[in-house]
Amino acid sequence: MNLEHYYSSQQWEKIQNFSASKTSPFLVVDLDRIQFKYDELTRCFPTAKIFYAVKANPGVEVIQRLKDIGSNFDVASVYELDRVIASGIAPARISFGNTIKKAVDVKYAYAQGVRLFVTDAHADLEQIAAFAPGSRVFVRVLVDSGDTAEWPLSRKFGCDTDMAVQLMVKAQQLGLKPYGVSFHVGSQQKDVTVWRTAIDTVKTVFERLENQYQIKLELMNMGGGFPAHYLSDIDSIQAYADQIKMYIQQNFKREITLFLEPGRSLVGDAGVIVSEIVLIANKSEKDAKRWVYTDVGVFNGLIETLGETTKYPIYTPKMQSQAEQSKVILAGPTCDSTDIMYEQSPYQLPSNLAIGDRLYWLSTGAYTTSYASVEFNGYPPLRTFYLD
Ligand SMILES: *Cc1c(COP(=O)(O)O)cnc(C)c1O
Repeated sequence: MNLEHYYSSQQWEKIQNFSASKTSPFLVVDLDRIQFKYDELTRCFPTAKIFYAVKANPGVEVIQRLKDIGSNFDVASVYELDRVIASGIAPARISFGNTIKKAVDVKYAYAQGVRLFVTDAHADLEQIAAFAPGSRVFVRVLVDSGDTAEWPLSRKFGCDTDMAVQLMVKAQQLGLKPYGVSFHVGSQQKDVTVWRTAIDTVKTVFERLENQYQIKLELMNMGGGFPAHYLSDIDSIQAYADQIKMYIQQNFKREITLFLEPGRSLVGDAGVIVSEIVLIANKSEKDAKRWVYTDVGVFNGLIETLGETTKYPIYTPKMQSQAEQSKVILAGPTCDSTDIMYEQSPYQLPSNLAIGDRLYWLSTGAYTTSYASVEFNGYPPLRTFYLD
Protein backbone atom coordinates (compact mmCIF):
# COMPACT_ATOMS: atom_id res chain seq x y z
CA MET A 1 0.00 0.00 0.00
CA ASN A 2 1.48 3.23 -1.17
CA LEU A 3 -0.37 6.26 0.16
CA GLU A 4 1.05 8.48 -2.58
CA HIS A 5 -0.84 6.45 -5.18
CA TYR A 6 -4.05 7.73 -3.64
CA TYR A 7 -3.42 11.15 -2.13
CA SER A 8 -0.98 14.00 -2.52
CA SER A 9 0.61 14.90 0.82
CA GLN A 10 -1.43 18.09 0.86
CA GLN A 11 -4.73 16.27 0.36
CA TRP A 12 -3.83 13.72 2.97
CA GLU A 13 -2.90 16.40 5.47
CA LYS A 14 -6.32 17.97 5.04
CA ILE A 15 -8.01 14.68 5.90
CA GLN A 16 -5.70 13.82 8.78
CA ASN A 17 -5.93 17.25 10.37
CA PHE A 18 -9.68 17.13 10.21
CA SER A 19 -9.80 13.62 11.68
CA ALA A 20 -7.35 14.10 14.51
CA SER A 21 -9.78 15.38 17.14
CA LYS A 22 -12.78 13.20 16.16
CA THR A 23 -13.75 9.97 17.87
CA SER A 24 -13.66 6.99 15.52
CA PRO A 25 -15.26 5.41 13.59
CA PHE A 26 -16.46 7.79 10.89
CA LEU A 27 -16.27 8.50 7.19
CA VAL A 28 -14.73 11.67 5.79
CA VAL A 29 -15.81 12.68 2.30
CA ASP A 30 -13.82 15.23 0.34
CA LEU A 31 -16.33 17.06 -1.86
CA ASP A 32 -13.61 18.64 -4.01
CA ARG A 33 -12.51 15.20 -5.03
CA ILE A 34 -16.03 14.30 -6.13
CA GLN A 35 -16.09 17.47 -8.19
CA PHE A 36 -12.73 16.54 -9.69
CA LYS A 37 -14.06 13.12 -10.73
CA TYR A 38 -17.20 14.70 -12.14
CA ASP A 39 -15.18 17.19 -14.18
CA GLU A 40 -12.92 14.43 -15.41
CA LEU A 41 -15.89 12.36 -16.55
CA THR A 42 -17.53 15.27 -18.38
CA ARG A 43 -14.21 16.05 -20.07
CA CYS A 44 -13.92 12.44 -21.21
CA PHE A 45 -17.55 12.25 -22.39
CA PRO A 46 -18.31 15.82 -23.47
CA THR A 47 -21.61 14.93 -25.15
CA ALA A 48 -23.05 12.75 -22.37
CA LYS A 49 -25.49 13.85 -19.69
CA ILE A 50 -24.52 12.63 -16.26
CA PHE A 51 -27.10 11.20 -13.87
CA TYR A 52 -25.44 10.58 -10.52
CA ALA A 53 -26.61 7.26 -9.03
CA VAL A 54 -27.64 8.60 -5.65
CA LYS A 55 -27.51 5.22 -3.93
CA ALA A 56 -23.69 5.18 -4.03
CA ASN A 57 -23.59 7.97 -1.46
CA PRO A 58 -26.87 9.72 -0.70
CA GLY A 59 -25.41 12.43 1.52
CA VAL A 60 -27.19 15.78 1.02
CA GLU A 61 -23.81 17.51 0.82
CA VAL A 62 -22.84 15.23 -2.08
CA ILE A 63 -26.14 15.88 -3.84
CA GLN A 64 -25.77 19.61 -3.28
CA ARG A 65 -22.26 19.77 -4.68
CA LEU A 66 -23.21 17.74 -7.74
CA LYS A 67 -26.30 19.87 -8.23
CA ASP A 68 -24.15 23.02 -8.20
CA ILE A 69 -21.87 21.69 -10.93
CA GLY A 70 -24.70 20.62 -13.21
CA SER A 71 -25.30 16.93 -12.57
CA ASN A 72 -28.60 15.16 -13.08
CA PHE A 73 -29.76 12.44 -10.70
CA ASP A 74 -30.70 8.79 -10.97
CA VAL A 75 -32.93 7.75 -8.08
CA ALA A 76 -33.72 4.20 -7.03
CA SER A 77 -36.68 4.87 -4.75
CA VAL A 78 -39.17 7.52 -3.65
CA TYR A 79 -37.02 8.12 -0.59
CA GLU A 80 -34.06 9.12 -2.72
CA LEU A 81 -36.44 11.13 -4.86
CA ASP A 82 -37.62 13.07 -1.79
CA ARG A 83 -34.07 13.84 -0.83
CA VAL A 84 -33.11 15.04 -4.27
CA ILE A 85 -36.26 17.18 -4.58
CA ALA A 86 -35.65 18.60 -1.10
CA SER A 87 -32.21 19.68 -2.32
CA GLY A 88 -33.96 21.91 -4.83
CA ILE A 89 -33.31 19.81 -7.92
CA ALA A 90 -35.83 20.29 -10.71
CA PRO A 91 -37.72 17.09 -11.63
CA ALA A 92 -36.52 17.48 -15.22
CA ARG A 93 -33.06 16.55 -13.88
CA ILE A 94 -34.26 13.31 -12.31
CA SER A 95 -34.56 9.81 -13.73
CA PHE A 96 -36.40 7.02 -11.92
CA GLY A 97 -33.81 4.35 -12.64
CA ASN A 98 -35.08 1.33 -10.76
CA THR A 99 -37.04 -1.25 -12.71
CA ILE A 100 -38.56 -2.50 -9.46
CA LYS A 101 -41.12 -0.05 -8.12
CA LYS A 102 -44.64 0.01 -6.78
CA ALA A 103 -47.51 1.62 -8.64
CA VAL A 104 -47.91 4.12 -5.78
CA ASP A 105 -44.28 5.07 -6.19
CA VAL A 106 -44.71 5.73 -9.89
CA LYS A 107 -47.73 7.84 -9.08
CA TYR A 108 -45.83 9.74 -6.42
CA ALA A 109 -42.85 10.38 -8.69
CA TYR A 110 -45.18 11.62 -11.41
CA ALA A 111 -46.85 13.96 -8.95
CA GLN A 112 -43.41 15.35 -8.08
CA GLY A 113 -42.86 16.07 -11.77
CA VAL A 114 -40.69 13.13 -12.81
CA ARG A 115 -41.25 12.21 -16.47
CA LEU A 116 -38.44 9.76 -17.12
CA PHE A 117 -38.67 6.12 -16.10
CA VAL A 118 -36.85 2.89 -16.79
CA THR A 119 -38.62 -0.40 -17.31
CA ASP A 120 -37.83 -4.02 -18.13
CA ALA A 121 -41.16 -5.78 -17.64
CA HIS A 122 -44.72 -5.67 -18.98
CA ALA A 123 -46.39 -5.19 -15.60
CA ASP A 124 -44.06 -2.34 -14.71
CA LEU A 125 -44.60 -0.65 -18.08
CA GLU A 126 -48.37 -0.88 -17.65
CA GLN A 127 -48.22 0.82 -14.29
CA ILE A 128 -46.01 3.59 -15.71
CA ALA A 129 -48.59 4.11 -18.46
CA ALA A 130 -51.39 4.20 -15.88
CA PHE A 131 -49.76 6.44 -13.28
CA ALA A 132 -47.20 8.47 -15.23
CA PRO A 133 -49.07 9.03 -18.51
CA GLY A 134 -47.12 10.47 -21.42
CA SER A 135 -43.74 9.99 -19.74
CA ARG A 136 -40.53 9.01 -21.47
CA VAL A 137 -39.54 5.43 -20.89
CA PHE A 138 -36.33 3.62 -21.65
CA VAL A 139 -35.91 -0.11 -21.54
CA ARG A 140 -33.11 -1.84 -19.73
CA VAL A 141 -31.49 -4.74 -21.54
CA LEU A 142 -29.70 -7.66 -20.01
CA VAL A 143 -25.98 -7.57 -20.58
CA ASP A 144 -23.23 -9.91 -19.60
CA SER A 145 -20.91 -8.44 -16.96
CA GLY A 146 -18.26 -11.04 -17.73
CA ASP A 147 -16.31 -12.16 -14.71
CA THR A 148 -14.57 -8.81 -14.59
CA ALA A 149 -17.12 -6.83 -12.56
CA GLU A 150 -16.73 -7.00 -8.82
CA TRP A 151 -20.48 -6.52 -8.42
CA PRO A 152 -22.24 -8.00 -11.46
CA LEU A 153 -25.80 -6.72 -11.85
CA SER A 154 -26.84 -9.17 -14.52
CA ARG A 155 -29.79 -11.56 -14.04
CA LYS A 156 -31.70 -9.36 -11.65
CA PHE A 157 -32.15 -6.44 -14.06
CA GLY A 158 -32.89 -6.09 -17.73
CA CYS A 159 -34.67 -8.13 -20.37
CA ASP A 160 -33.54 -9.68 -23.64
CA THR A 161 -33.61 -7.81 -26.93
CA ASP A 162 -36.88 -9.37 -28.16
CA MET A 163 -38.69 -8.26 -25.06
CA ALA A 164 -37.00 -4.85 -25.15
CA VAL A 165 -38.39 -4.30 -28.65
CA GLN A 166 -41.85 -5.44 -27.59
CA LEU A 167 -41.83 -3.19 -24.53
CA MET A 168 -40.97 -0.12 -26.58
CA VAL A 169 -43.71 -0.92 -29.11
CA LYS A 170 -46.16 -1.38 -26.28
CA ALA A 171 -44.98 1.84 -24.62
CA GLN A 172 -46.04 3.73 -27.73
CA GLN A 173 -49.38 1.94 -27.84
CA LEU A 174 -49.97 2.91 -24.22
CA GLY A 175 -49.34 6.59 -24.92
CA LEU A 176 -45.85 6.74 -23.46
CA LYS A 177 -42.79 8.04 -25.30
CA PRO A 178 -40.41 5.23 -26.20
CA TYR A 179 -37.15 7.02 -25.51
CA GLY A 180 -34.24 4.59 -25.55
CA VAL A 181 -32.30 1.71 -24.12
CA SER A 182 -30.18 1.37 -20.99
CA PHE A 183 -27.77 -1.16 -19.59
CA HIS A 184 -25.36 -1.57 -16.71
CA VAL A 185 -22.21 -3.59 -17.29
CA GLY A 186 -21.74 -4.40 -13.59
CA SER A 187 -20.18 -2.26 -10.92
CA GLN A 188 -16.39 -1.88 -10.66
CA GLN A 189 -16.11 -3.23 -14.20
CA LYS A 190 -12.46 -3.73 -15.00
CA ASP A 191 -12.80 -4.80 -18.62
CA VAL A 192 -13.88 -2.07 -21.01
CA THR A 193 -14.63 -4.54 -23.82
CA VAL A 194 -17.81 -5.51 -21.97
CA TRP A 195 -19.23 -2.14 -23.10
CA ARG A 196 -18.73 -3.19 -26.72
CA THR A 197 -21.11 -6.14 -26.40
CA ALA A 198 -23.60 -3.99 -24.51
CA ILE A 199 -23.53 -1.20 -27.11
CA ASP A 200 -23.97 -3.80 -29.81
CA THR A 201 -27.09 -5.06 -28.05
CA VAL A 202 -28.48 -1.53 -27.83
CA LYS A 203 -27.89 -1.05 -31.54
CA THR A 204 -29.87 -4.21 -32.30
CA VAL A 205 -32.85 -2.86 -30.38
CA PHE A 206 -32.57 0.54 -32.10
CA GLU A 207 -32.44 -1.02 -35.55
CA ARG A 208 -35.30 -3.43 -35.06
CA LEU A 209 -37.56 -0.72 -33.74
CA GLU A 210 -36.65 1.59 -36.59
CA ASN A 211 -36.88 -0.98 -39.37
CA GLN A 212 -39.88 -2.99 -38.25
CA TYR A 213 -41.93 -0.45 -36.30
CA GLN A 214 -40.75 2.99 -37.47
CA ILE A 215 -39.97 3.88 -33.88
CA LYS A 216 -36.88 6.06 -33.71
CA LEU A 217 -35.23 5.87 -30.31
CA GLU A 218 -33.00 8.69 -29.11
CA LEU A 219 -31.28 7.59 -25.94
CA MET A 220 -28.53 5.18 -25.04
CA ASN A 221 -28.11 5.15 -21.26
CA MET A 222 -24.81 3.43 -20.49
CA GLY A 223 -25.34 3.16 -16.75
CA GLY A 224 -22.45 3.10 -14.30
CA GLY A 225 -19.69 0.57 -13.81
CA PHE A 226 -16.61 2.78 -13.97
CA PRO A 227 -14.16 1.78 -11.27
CA ALA A 228 -12.95 3.40 -8.09
CA HIS A 229 -9.30 3.03 -7.13
CA TYR A 230 -9.05 0.18 -4.65
CA LEU A 231 -5.97 -1.91 -3.96
CA SER A 232 -5.34 -3.00 -7.52
CA ASP A 233 -4.56 -0.57 -10.29
CA ILE A 234 -7.26 0.48 -12.72
CA ASP A 235 -7.27 2.07 -16.16
CA SER A 236 -7.94 5.78 -16.36
CA ILE A 237 -11.43 7.05 -17.16
CA GLN A 238 -9.89 8.53 -20.30
CA ALA A 239 -8.84 5.06 -21.43
CA TYR A 240 -12.36 3.76 -20.84
CA ALA A 241 -13.85 6.72 -22.64
CA ASP A 242 -11.61 6.38 -25.70
CA GLN A 243 -12.70 2.77 -26.20
CA ILE A 244 -16.37 3.37 -25.47
CA LYS A 245 -16.59 6.37 -27.81
CA MET A 246 -15.05 4.23 -30.52
CA TYR A 247 -17.67 1.49 -30.00
CA ILE A 248 -20.40 4.12 -30.25
CA GLN A 249 -18.97 5.55 -33.43
CA GLN A 250 -18.74 2.12 -34.99
CA ASN A 251 -22.35 1.29 -34.17
CA PHE A 252 -24.34 4.49 -34.55
CA LYS A 253 -24.26 6.49 -37.72
CA ARG A 254 -26.65 9.18 -36.49
CA GLU A 255 -26.52 11.42 -33.43
CA ILE A 256 -27.98 9.86 -30.32
CA THR A 257 -28.43 11.13 -26.78
CA LEU A 258 -26.02 9.63 -24.27
CA PHE A 259 -26.53 9.26 -20.53
CA LEU A 260 -24.10 7.99 -17.93
CA GLU A 261 -25.15 6.99 -14.42
CA PRO A 262 -21.93 6.89 -12.43
CA GLY A 263 -22.01 6.11 -8.73
CA ARG A 264 -18.88 4.41 -7.50
CA SER A 265 -16.43 6.20 -9.79
CA LEU A 266 -17.59 9.64 -8.68
CA VAL A 267 -17.67 9.19 -4.94
CA GLY A 268 -15.58 6.10 -4.11
CA ASP A 269 -12.13 7.68 -4.06
CA ALA A 270 -13.42 10.72 -2.18
CA GLY A 271 -14.04 8.87 1.09
CA VAL A 272 -11.84 7.65 3.93
CA ILE A 273 -13.16 5.64 6.84
CA VAL A 274 -11.24 6.38 9.99
CA SER A 275 -11.18 3.48 12.43
CA GLU A 276 -9.36 2.39 15.53
CA ILE A 277 -7.98 -0.96 16.59
CA VAL A 278 -10.02 -2.44 19.42
CA LEU A 279 -8.13 -5.68 19.95
CA ILE A 280 -5.17 -7.62 18.59
CA ALA A 281 -5.21 -11.32 19.41
CA ASN A 282 -3.83 -14.72 18.53
CA LYS A 283 -5.99 -17.82 18.71
CA SER A 284 -3.40 -20.05 20.33
CA GLU A 285 -0.11 -19.61 22.15
CA LYS A 286 1.51 -21.47 19.23
CA ASP A 287 -0.25 -19.57 16.49
CA ALA A 288 1.46 -16.43 15.23
CA LYS A 289 -1.49 -15.37 13.09
CA ARG A 290 -2.67 -11.92 14.18
CA TRP A 291 -6.35 -11.12 14.37
CA VAL A 292 -6.91 -7.37 14.28
CA TYR A 293 -10.36 -6.19 15.34
CA THR A 294 -11.41 -2.68 14.43
CA ASP A 295 -14.36 -0.49 15.36
CA VAL A 296 -15.66 -0.69 11.78
CA GLY A 297 -16.82 -3.88 10.18
CA VAL A 298 -19.14 -5.48 7.70
CA PHE A 299 -22.21 -4.07 9.47
CA ASN A 300 -21.16 -0.46 9.92
CA GLY A 301 -19.70 0.49 6.58
CA LEU A 302 -17.65 -2.29 5.06
CA ILE A 303 -20.33 -4.57 3.63
CA GLU A 304 -18.62 -4.68 0.25
CA THR A 305 -15.83 -6.68 1.83
CA LEU A 306 -18.26 -9.63 1.96
CA GLY A 307 -16.65 -12.49 0.11
CA GLU A 308 -13.49 -10.33 0.31
CA THR A 309 -14.67 -8.77 -2.94
CA THR A 310 -13.71 -5.13 -2.56
CA LYS A 311 -10.15 -4.79 -1.36
CA TYR A 312 -9.79 -1.37 0.19
CA PRO A 313 -6.32 0.11 0.57
CA ILE A 314 -5.58 0.37 4.30
CA TYR A 315 -3.17 2.88 5.78
CA THR A 316 -1.82 3.31 9.28
CA PRO A 317 0.71 5.99 10.29
CA LYS A 318 3.16 3.34 11.51
CA MET A 319 3.72 2.44 7.86
CA GLN A 320 5.71 5.67 7.60
CA SER A 321 8.67 4.28 9.53
CA GLN A 322 9.18 1.42 7.07
CA ALA A 323 8.63 -0.92 10.02
CA GLU A 324 8.50 -4.64 9.39
CA GLN A 325 5.08 -5.82 8.27
CA SER A 326 3.31 -9.12 8.72
CA LYS A 327 0.08 -10.84 7.81
CA VAL A 328 -3.14 -9.87 9.56
CA ILE A 329 -6.72 -11.04 9.60
CA LEU A 330 -9.03 -8.03 9.80
CA ALA A 331 -12.40 -8.28 11.53
CA GLY A 332 -15.15 -6.01 12.77
CA PRO A 333 -16.41 -5.45 16.30
CA THR A 334 -19.76 -7.29 16.30
CA CYS A 335 -20.71 -10.72 17.65
CA ASP A 336 -21.31 -12.16 14.19
CA SER A 337 -18.78 -14.46 12.61
CA THR A 338 -19.50 -13.06 9.14
CA ASP A 339 -18.10 -9.78 10.45
CA ILE A 340 -14.65 -10.57 9.06
CA MET A 341 -13.36 -8.33 6.32
CA TYR A 342 -10.18 -10.06 5.20
CA GLU A 343 -9.03 -13.52 6.17
CA GLN A 344 -7.87 -15.04 2.85
CA SER A 345 -6.61 -11.82 1.30
CA PRO A 346 -2.92 -11.22 1.98
CA TYR A 347 -3.14 -8.00 3.98
CA GLN A 348 0.01 -7.00 5.82
CA LEU A 349 0.28 -4.35 8.51
CA PRO A 350 3.19 -3.17 10.68
CA SER A 351 4.26 -5.76 13.23
CA ASN A 352 4.36 -3.11 15.95
CA LEU A 353 0.68 -2.25 15.50
CA ALA A 354 -1.03 -1.62 18.84
CA ILE A 355 -4.50 -1.37 20.30
CA GLY A 356 -5.79 2.19 19.82
CA ASP A 357 -3.86 2.77 16.58
CA ARG A 358 -5.83 4.28 13.77
CA LEU A 359 -6.50 2.48 10.52
CA TYR A 360 -7.58 4.49 7.49
CA TRP A 361 -9.69 2.69 4.90
CA LEU A 362 -9.15 4.52 1.64
CA SER A 363 -11.57 4.79 -1.29
CA THR A 364 -14.58 4.14 0.94
CA GLY A 365 -16.83 6.94 -0.31
CA ALA A 366 -19.20 4.63 -2.21
CA TYR A 367 -21.57 1.96 -0.92
CA THR A 368 -20.45 2.25 2.70
CA THR A 369 -22.60 4.56 4.83
CA SER A 370 -25.77 3.83 2.87
CA TYR A 371 -25.19 0.12 3.46
CA ALA A 372 -24.55 0.31 7.21
CA SER A 373 -26.96 -1.42 9.60
CA VAL A 374 -29.05 0.77 11.87
CA GLU A 375 -28.10 -0.76 15.20
CA PHE A 376 -26.71 -4.25 14.90
CA ASN A 377 -25.09 -5.01 18.27
CA GLY A 378 -26.15 -1.50 19.20
CA TYR A 379 -23.65 0.14 16.87
CA PRO A 380 -25.12 3.24 15.22
CA PRO A 381 -24.79 3.84 11.47
CA LEU A 382 -21.43 5.23 10.47
CA ARG A 383 -21.20 9.01 10.90
CA THR A 384 -20.08 11.05 7.93
CA PHE A 385 -18.28 14.38 7.73
CA TYR A 386 -18.07 16.29 4.47
CA LEU A 387 -15.11 18.51 3.70
CA ASP A 388 -15.74 21.50 1.43
C1 LIG B 1 -26.15 1.17 -9.08
C2 LIG B 1 -26.53 1.76 -10.37
C3 LIG B 1 -25.68 2.67 -11.00
C4 LIG B 1 -24.34 3.05 -10.44
O1 LIG B 1 -23.39 2.06 -10.70
P1 LIG B 1 -21.85 2.25 -10.34
O2 LIG B 1 -21.24 0.97 -10.75
O3 LIG B 1 -21.77 2.52 -8.90
O4 LIG B 1 -21.34 3.39 -11.14
C5 LIG B 1 -26.11 3.23 -12.17
N1 LIG B 1 -27.30 2.90 -12.72
C6 LIG B 1 -28.14 2.03 -12.14
C7 LIG B 1 -29.43 1.74 -12.79
C8 LIG B 1 -27.77 1.42 -10.97
O5 LIG B 1 -28.60 0.53 -10.40
